[in-house]
Amino acid sequence: MLEPSSPDWASGLRATWQRGEAGAQAQLEKFLDNDVGSYADCRDYPGKTSTSRLSPYLRFGDISARQVWHAATNAAHAGSSNRNLEKFQSELGWREFSYHLLYNNPDVASRNLQSRFDTMQWRQDTTALEAWQHGKTGYPIVDAGMRELWNTGWMHNRVRMVVASFLAKHLLIDWRQGESWFWDTLVDADPANNPVSWQWVAGSGADAAPYFRIFNPVLQGQKFDADSTYVRRWVPELANIPASVIHNPWRHEAESIGRKSKCVPSYPDRIIDHDYARRRALEAYKNLA
Ligand SMILES: Cc1cc2nc3c(=O)[nH]c(=O)nc-3n(C[C@H](O)[C@H](O)[C@H](O)COP(=O)(O)OP(=O)(O)OC[C@H]3O[C@@H](n4cnc5c(N)ncnc54)[C@H](O)[C@@H]3O)c2cc1C
Repeated sequence: MLEPSSPDWASGLRATWQRGEAGAQAQLEKFLDNDVGSYADCRDYPGKTSTSRLSPYLRFGDISARQVWHAATNAAHAGSSNRNLEKFQSELGWREFSYHLLYNNPDVASRNLQSRFDTMQWRQDTTALEAWQHGKTGYPIVDAGMRELWNTGWMHNRVRMVVASFLAKHLLIDWRQGESWFWDTLVDADPANNPVSWQWVAGSGADAAPYFRIFNPVLQGQKFDADSTYVRRWVPELANIPASVIHNPWRHEAESIGRKSKCVPSYPDRIIDHDYARRRALEAYKNLA
C-alpha cells in the first residue's frame, strides 16, 4: 500500500534488496561464505562486493549485531583469519560507538559536537547542492556514489566518505544538508551512524577526521577504483574513456589534441576545481576559533 507507484522510484531498491529477516539471514550467509575471509583487504574497493551489506537489516532490527558477531566468530573458527574477523567486528564496534554518542547527545543530527564549528560560515549554494544530490558534480567517483545511492538506497563506505568530504569541504555546504539527504535516500538511514559519520567527516564530531584531511576525489578514484569498474557501472556516459584518465575526464579532453568540443558532451564539467576548493576549505577551517 505504501509503495510508490507513479512515479515508481523504488524499482532499483526492490531489485537490490530482499526484505525482512529472511533477507538478513541470506545476506549474512552469503557474506560469511564468500567475503569475510578477505574483508580487511577488500573492504575499501567499491567495485567489489566485499562488505556484508547488512546495514539496512541491522538498522531495522531484522538481525542483531550480537547475532552477526557470533555468526562471524563461528565462521572464523571454521577457517577465516583473525585479522579479517577482527576488522569486521571492529566495524560493528563503531556502530556501538555511534549509539553511545547518540544516547549521550540526542541532538547529534542537528548540533555540532564540537561547538567551535557553530561559527563556521557554511555556504548557501542550492545549485551546487543539487549537482551533488543528482550525481552531476563532474567528479566521477562522487557522481557514481550519489547515483548508486539514488538507485539502490545504499552506497559503499569508502565512497560515502568521499562524497561527504566533497560536500562539507570542497563545497563548504553544511554537513546537516548532506545528512538530511542521506536520511531521505539511504535504506540503512540510521539515527546514530548517519549523523555521527557526517560529523566525523566534517570535522565537528567527537572523534573527528582532522580538518586538513580533504579527500582528493581523483586520487581516491584512482586508488580505490583503479580498474574503474565502479565508475563505469554508475556513470555510463564515461564508458569510452580509457581507465587511465576516467577519474579525471577533463585531462582526457585536454590530451585529445585539436579537439574543440567536449569528449563526453553528456557528462557535466567539474563544478569546482580541486586545488581551489582545497585552499578555500583549509582557510575556512583554520579560521574556526
Ligand atoms: C557520511 C556517512 C554516512 C553514513 N551513514 C550511515 C547510515 O545512515 N547507516 C549506517 O548503518 N551506516 C552509515 N555509515 C557507515 C557505513 O558507511 C555503513 O555502515 C556501511 O557502508 C554499511 O555497509 P555494510 O553493511 O556492507 O558494512 P560492513 O563493512 O559489512 O560493516 C558491518 C556493519 O558494521 C557497521 N558499520 C560499518 N562501518 C561503520 C562505520 N564507519 N560507522 C558505524 N558503523 C559501521 C554497520 O552496521 C555495518 O552494517 C555512514 C558513513 C558515512 C561516511
